[in-house]
Amino acid sequence: MSGTVCLTFDFDSFSGELPGGSPGDLSRAEFAAVGVPRILNLLEHYAIPATWFVPGHTADTYPTLCRDIVRAGHEVALHGYAHENNSRLTADEERRVTRHAYEAVAEVLGERPKGARTPSWDLSPATLDILTELGLVYDSSLMAHDYRPYYVRRDDRHSIEGPSRLGESSRLLELPISWSLDDWPAFETNGRGRALHNARLVFENWRDDVAYMLRDFDDGVVTLTSHPEVTGRGHRLLGYERLVGEIRQMGVTFSRMDTVADGVLAGRAYGRYHPQHGSFGERPPG
Ligand SMILES: [Zn+2]
Repeated sequence: MSGTVCLTFDFDSFSGELPGGSPGDLSRAEFAAVGVPRILNLLEHYAIPATWFVPGHTADTYPTLCRDIVRAGHEVALHGYAHENNSRLTADEERRVTRHAYEAVAEVLGERPKGARTPSWDLSPATLDILTELGLVYDSSLMAHDYRPYYVRRDDRHSIEGPSRLGESSRLLELPISWSLDDWPAFETNGRGRALHNARLVFENWRDDVAYMLRDFDDGVVTLTSHPEVTGRGHRLLGYERLVGEIRQMGVTFSRMDTVADGVLAGRAYGRYHPQHGSFGERPPG
């Protein structure tokens, strides 16, 4: 029984509230910089390498803190410049802000990012081409699997008149995510609703997603998404530390996402479904 867990952190800070964030929301965003050293210390304590998705705006606002992340051995990858919603941009605007983000992160951190996570997991029809043009190897914004990296398809066709037609695979690798493994919707409130769920219960859900992977998948990989302004608060940080300790005890390996991507490119077949019970396997449409 083996498996990989990617701990990932989206260091959105002010970028997530721009333009026009209220003073209250901007102060919550500012708390991200308080949470980062706490999370870095937790990761250092357990000797866990992680991946941080850093908007260019955050890299330019907090260059020293971002360099601390790299110096601690973590990967830094793209997350827009000012946390733009790609689907609301023209292709030209999206190309310009993504390149701006790439240059800011590469300039501040002195290394070229290999991956990207679209802000709010929002993609436009142009996003995959733009990420590929920049030479990125992977994206981490889609949800079509939970335990297996896959190559993103291009030109899927969906209609209410007939079956969906799936397009060809691109060269861009997807390391999938899920809203159910993201701390933001579980814990935060945007004034539209009240999440603020109990940290023990939320992280119990996350632990069980890892446990199921270890039970029914060979060499699966799962991605957990957190934000320093969310999980950096005391009760969540203690819950997160308990989670890390528990899944460590289960025997998982913690990896940066670029390490997983390198493994796939080298031929490693992550996430083969091998159910403990039953005879049904996974099937594509058709
Ligand atoms: Zn974000």
